[in-house]
Amino acid sequence: MASSLDLTLPGDDDPRRQAVRSWLKANPAPTGRQLAEAGYVAPHWPKPWGLGADPIHQLVVDDELKRAGVRRPSNQIGIGWAGPTIIHAGTQEQKDRYLFPLLAADEIWCQLFSEPGAGSDLAALATRAVRDGDEYVVNGQKIWTSFGHFARYGILIARTNPDAPKHKGISYLICPMDLPGIEVRPIIEMTGGHTFNEVFFTDVRIPVENLVGDEHEGWALAKVTLANERVSLSGGGALWGQGPTMDDLLDVVRSNGGCPDPVLRQRLVKAWSVAEVLRLIRMRTLTAQIAGKQPGPEASIRKAMADDHGQEVMALAMDLSGTHALVTDRGPFGKPDTFWHHGFLFAQALTIGGGTFAVQRNIIGERVLGLPHDIDVEAGKTWSESRSAASA
Ligand SMILES: Cc1cc2nc3c(=O)[nH]c(=O)nc-3n(C[C@H](O)[C@H](O)[C@H](O)COP(=O)(O)OP(=O)(O)OC[C@H]3O[C@@H](n4cnc5c(N)ncnc54)[C@H](O)[C@@H]3O)c2cc1C
Repeated sequence: MASSLDLTLPGDDDPRRQAVRSWLKANPAPTGRQLAEAGYVAPHWPKPWGLGADPIHQLVVDDELKRAGVRRPSNQIGIGWAGPTIIHAGTQEQKDRYLFPLLAADEIWCQLFSEPGAGSDLAALATRAVRDGDEYVVNGQKIWTSFGHFARYGILIARTNPDAPKHKGISYLICPMDLPGIEVRPIIEMTGGHTFNEVFFTDVRIPVENLVGDEHEGWALAKVTLANERVSLSGGGALWGQGPTMDDLLDVVRSNGGCPDPVLRQRLVKAWSVAEVLRLIRMRTLTAQIAGKQPGPEASIRKAMADDHGQEVMALAMDLSGTHALVTDRGPFGKPDTFWHHGFLFAQALTIGGGTFAVQRNIIGERVLGLPHDIDVEAGKTWSESRSAASA
């Protein structure tokens, strides 16, 4: 582990650092499109969409953008999950059409995978896509579709051959979200926010040119998407890389003169230690990914730890707040700060989305510890063949 964690970054005179600095001098307030065309949104992607950057180069770019206060365009599903899959298996036309607008966040993407009867066991999905000439006719329902209400495109997996075993006969399609027959219904979360949706498909006609990879071979691509999803949920913040970190919470504690309660103090130290371990695992996962290795079970180890950690950080914030935690616009120590309260409610989703806590533990048990496979009783199949195989 130590050898892959030598993350001392090159200094000021490094030519890659100089290149970013001169570019930022010429483009002091870059738009998403300018950042995308410069290759700075996903530097490890191949040219022309990225820079073909190695891990150090990628981290140098990250460092320079951060220093200049430049934020990358936000398109989590587009950049994190859809883009890598299109690079992996898309046609040249698909790459030319979709990748730059996606990197620039000019076109937001959503993920049409989960269904009411297919979450952890994603391969049990029932949405049908029937070939009719140059189109697929899609009928079915998706659920938990984040950003579905404003996304321009969705990555859709649907069953094209119902007679094949459940992991065969699935195809991977790019779905324009404004097609006739698509109905998006909001689901309001307990945070009061609206991120999720149900999406209903009634005789939706998707052109065959929107097929990614080969017909019926979409499960292999869904695994590419899911593995990238797990890694891209691995940022520094306590809520899937978003939101405040353990360090932010400690800053609040410090600025309030410390924490006199010995039990809370112990919980703070324990959570800080986990945050440090997670930071190191994250570096290892990211450097492996940037170096072109497909994410392995270590992404599940990190996710299982990070999800529990995120819930503990938010629970600590609430416990430090005492009775102020009962008031929705109060953060730790009663300072107005909606994020901690919102974060506490949102944190409950961490152990569900992107593969539940139980699915992650199954992967770790089977692939890291070599324990016997969990059994999918209904299908008589091992779970390693199902969604949990995403980290294979
Ligand atoms: C914040 C958030 C955003 C999401 N965004 C999207 C999105 O944009 N697009 C999308 O397609 N989906 C999205 N999802 C859905 C997510 O992928 C599913 O919720 C997840 O895969 C779990 O599926 P499920 O909800 O059907 O639960 P189920 O799979 O029905 O699980 C129910 C319970 O059974 C347990 N369980 C299931 N299988 C096993 C097993 N083999 N062994 C032990 N226990 C098991 C689970 O751990 C869980 O406790 C999102 C979810 C969340 C929380």
